[in-house]
Amino acid sequence: MALPVAPLAVDALTLEGAVERALALIVSGRGGQVVTLNPEIVMRARRDPGLRAVIASAALVTADGAGVVWALRLAGCRIPARVTGIDLAERLLARLADLGYDAFLLGAGYRVAEAAARALTGQSPPVRVAGAWSGGPRPEGDAETLARIRASGARALLVAYGAPAQELWIARNLDALPGVLAIGVGGALDMIAGRRPRAPRWMRYAGLEWTHRLALEPARWRRMLALPAFAALALTSALRARLRGAPALLVARQEGLEA
Ligand code: UDP
Repeated sequence: MALPVAPLAVDALTLEGAVERALALIVSGRGGQVVTLNPEIVMRARRDPGLRAVIASAALVTADGAGVVWALRLAGCRIPARVTGIDLAERLLARLADLGYDAFLLGAGYRVAEAAARALTGQSPPVRVAGAWSGGPRPEGDAETLARIRASGARALLVAYGAPAQELWIARNLDALPGVLAIGVGGALDMIAGRRPRAPRWMRYAGLEWTHRLALEPARWRRMLALPAFAALALTSALRARLRGAPALLVARQEGLEA
């Protein structure tokens, strides 16, 4: 039988609460890593202790993915809302501009980060983007990417290499970026740059964003097999936790109680 795996903790915050927490990490100079957790990352982390450790030591873990919110509630945890990477990024960038801090956009396809930067700086009121670089998630590119981010003076870093490459990139490089808050944002730069539409609001509320994604990118079906596997695991873990006191799949970390 497989050894029990410790539950992953998700911060029980609204979008506004998550933005405030992220701002506090930037303004205090602590910085840190933000993981926007979805079912695919949870499934991956079950098999990958390194990724589990990265998520466990993140300064902020939000419940991206409707499945994460559903699984937490199924296990009896209080979680106020879903907080997606794109929503967190957009709200945080708007607030950062008010406070005079800059952001750096890293990753996504060729020239997408630059296009996202143009969209943000052209917004009213404009977001302060100090740099944008597609780079690449492999360690060979780290030195050049780090030099660009440091030179920009940005305190918020959006990393769009997809999960788990972006989480691993941040964990590997964060010590070299003191005071920076780095967020793995998946496809958010594509959305900001207007290259990928967001699902209609009703689909997001109904937890059906994944169907929109699958319709736009049918090649993702293989990755999406993680979703039914996640649902089955969430159900059995919730049952086992209730009946036998086995460790839960996910737990909600309430404000002020974080480890
Ligand atoms: N991406 C990248 N380099 C890579 C792999 C992915 O820049 O080696 C980018 C990809 O172009 C996209 C982003 O990572 O802009 C997020 O990818 P995906 O939509 O697969 O991420 P998810 O939101 O599902 O985590």
